[in-house]
Amino acid sequence: MANPHTADTPHWEAAFEHYYRDDVLRAFADIEQFGIGDGGELLRWYRVMEAEAITRRRSKVISVTDWLTLEYVPCETIGLEQILASRALEECERAAALFGWSHDEATRLTILAEETDAPWATNPFGYCVAKDPYEKICLPNYLVDDPEEFGQAVAHEYAHVITSNLGEGLAPRWLEEAVSVLVERRFDSDCWRRFCTGERAWLTPSRLEAVLIDRSDDDGTKDSIWAAYQQAGWIGRYLVECFGDQKLSLVLGELANESRSTNLSRLIRGKDRTEDALMRVLKSTPAEVFDRARQWLTTISEEAV
Ligand SMILES: [Zn+2]
Repeated sequence: MANPHTADTPHWEAAFEHYYRDDVLRAFADIEQFGIGDGGELLRWYRVMEAEAITRRRSKVISVTDWLTLEYVPCETIGLEQILASRALEECERAAALFGWSHDEATRLTILAEETDAPWATNPFGYCVAKDPYEKICLPNYLVDDPEEFGQAVAHEYAHVITSNLGEGLAPRWLEEAVSVLVERRFDSDCWRRFCTGERAWLTPSRLEAVLIDRSDDDGTKDSIWAAYQQAGWIGRYLVECFGDQKLSLVLGELANESRSTNLSRLIRGKDRTEDALMRVLKSTPAEVFDRARQWLTTISEEAV
């Protein structure tokens, strides 16, 4: 989740500073008295800080490995914390193996307190924030009851940790979600069928990017947001099945490539970072990748979805 940096009052400024150090109790104390004023954008942040602070007041933290810690509210995880910790570790290891990631960033996995009203409307399965001491993944408490869904949510968010670090935060949203949905393995056969028949539009790179960033209801149904994530996931699957896992890591590395020759070549060829990285590694433009992924989609069988 990106920092909007729209805070223009001293208490919000202080709150963001504390929040990004994961000093969530102070962050929430900074804003609790003041509310959100006129800034509707800040409502979401108010909720996020509140949820993380409520959790912190009652939580316990355990070390799972030297790079992973788990924060949870003991009476709400009903003795399942060791099972959740090993499930989380298994999913992180699997995602890391795909991309040759060696867990270079400390990661905190927080299962938010049950009563918290975090912005699940926009982040239904969790969210990930790059904080100063660690990358923090927050998951809603209801996932505790469903190990399968819990594992998928961890995989999705940990893939964001990997892509944002390999790509140094420069990957377009569609590529980040392509990797996350791919790693999460949550593919919907009904949505796949609608992409194949054309009943559900296959969006262009810029359109898909816009829907994933705004997460606004494109056609008045929640379905369009779900479909956008599914489309991204299918593009991720196409890239891995047709080019291999290694190529995806190379694309991410190329996005972050700041060598003089790369910057010069981007400038001369007038290409943006994403187009340049895809051309270098896959010899394709984003539009070509999207078109080919759409064609490939229709060649797979329903059982393979
Ligand atoms: Zn995501």
